[in-house]
Amino acid sequence: MLSSSLLLLLSACTSGEKVDSDSSDGHLECEVAIVGGGAGGLYTAFRLAPELGAGVCLFEKEAVLGGRIHDVTRSDDPDGPRVGVGARRVMEGQTVLLDLADELGMVLETPGNKQDLIEARGGYGFSKEDLVGLYELEPDASGDTETALYDAIRFSPERANASSYADFPAYVKAVVGEEGHAFLHDMSRFRADFNYALDTAGYLDYLDEEWDVCCTPSYPVGGMSAFIDGMAASTEAGGARIYTEEPVASINRSEGGYELVTASRTVHAAKVVIAVPPVALNWITGDVVDEIKAQAIYKDIVGVKVVSITQWWPDAWYNAIVNPDVATDNNVWRAWTTDHCLNFIEIPQEPYAAAAHVTRSVYNDDLECSNFWENLAGQGDAAVNAEVKAGLELLFANNGLTTPLSIPDPLETHVQVWPAAWHWLGAGTAATNADLYEWAAEPLPGENIGLVGEAYNVQRSGWSDAAYKSSIHLLNTHYGMSL
Ligand SMILES: Cc1cc2nc3c(=O)[nH]c(=O)nc-3n(C[C@H](O)[C@H](O)[C@H](O)COP(=O)(O)OP(=O)(O)OC[C@H]3O[C@@H](n4cnc5c(N)ncnc54)[C@H](O)[C@@H]3O)c2cc1C
Repeated sequence: MLSSSLLLLLSACTSGEKVDSDSSDGHLECEVAIVGGGAGGLYTAFRLAPELGAGVCLFEKEAVLGGRIHDVTRSDDPDGPRVGVGARRVMEGQTVLLDLADELGMVLETPGNKQDLIEARGGYGFSKEDLVGLYELEPDASGDTETALYDAIRFSPERANASSYADFPAYVKAVVGEEGHAFLHDMSRFRADFNYALDTAGYLDYLDEEWDVCCTPSYPVGGMSAFIDGMAASTEAGGARIYTEEPVASINRSEGGYELVTASRTVHAAKVVIAVPPVALNWITGDVVDEIKAQAIYKDIVGVKVVSITQWWPDAWYNAIVNPDVATDNNVWRAWTTDHCLNFIEIPQEPYAAAAHVTRSVYNDDLECSNFWENLAGQGDAAVNAEVKAGLELLFANNGLTTPLSIPDPLETHVQVWPAAWHWLGAGTAATNADLYEWAAEPLPGENIGLVGEAYNVQRSGWSDAAYKSSIHLLNTHYGMSL
């Protein structure tokens, strides 16, 4: 059931009456103003456009839509394959993304190669189990010590006392010991999970869900931007208005709704959807925003700083890195180390991106290392390239497992710093992931303000899935939809 104000607007639209304006004095009338054109904001506009047409206005700070879905090409080949410096893949269990890809007519590629190479404590292995001996741990009889340790932390009776631990790392150490913690930290490609002061209960709730998001990744032809392009085209075809390079500076209450001040306009809207994460909302002023920011649950959201470094190569030198114990699909597609800030390299195997001879040479979420890369980037590409090469040499030059090789010089390097790539609840919060999700749909009780995006659905931290689901939740609970 649509709200009465929306119905009024709809009937005005169908009768051809003028319901919105972009007057010469820069004043704009909108039924719903959406702040931010990332996955969450754009999805909201995409779903509202068929109902409200020009009543929907979306304001995006940057020249391009997409936010943390951001693909790049080599500078001298702008029509070449686009590769993600943020989001890259969709998992088999992410039905919301897969259905959306289907709806937008996207093509996904699912490559076969799945070999990993891991370096930790000076040892190398194709399997995590190969490295258990480097830790003071009893290998689990199942042959999968990592899963046994995760099972211990997920199903321990101690979980009932989660709130008594200072943070998630402290809980892990209490349940599986220092060496168990070290092994899980080193075997995971993501370090923030075990380094940041995260809320134990919230992280474990996330982990339970993440565990079930099985197994095989697929990659959109055209990069993850294909989601953004498809939604933007449909949104505009539905008559909604998208304004890029139009940052919103303030949001205040005004008669009959809200007033937003953007770079070049004053906007009046009956409803507002704020689709920017805290790192961006902190720069927006106004009574509405101040009241949201003052709430404890908002302050409890923690963002993880991530650096990704993308490099294009003269040839696919990395195709020589294979697991000789495996007969087919034996190329290494990702490798990680705890002994270098490179942290984690991804080698695309999907034909669309592989054609570009491009790797995500650094994918790092450790805070100290992220700061290190950010500082190094300030010194220029030569400094970054030398350090990346040192990391790649540590992994591949002489690991005793794969054919020794020398690392060539890249043709081009792109450093991307994400000050808050993904989010969780911080230690000490009184809130659950579910509380945050519900709160975001109506952060100011009784008001037509909603927050959408991955930062407000930390149960799916780190995935665009989170942003879409938080938008769906708002649209279902406050816009009469049943998505
Ligand atoms: C390195 C990395 C890897 C990832 N990998 C994957 C993956 O493989 N698969 C996957 O599904 N997800 C992945 N993600 C997560 C996914 O990218 C995000 O969850 C999702 O894109 C977040 O969308 P959002 O709408 O919540 O926020 P954002 O993308 O942050 O969008 C917010 C938008 O608001 C805009 N904005 C900010 N301030 C203002 C303002 N004042 N006025 C107007 N606009 C403003 C921003 O420019 C931005 O476009 C990854 C993310 C990162 C960083």
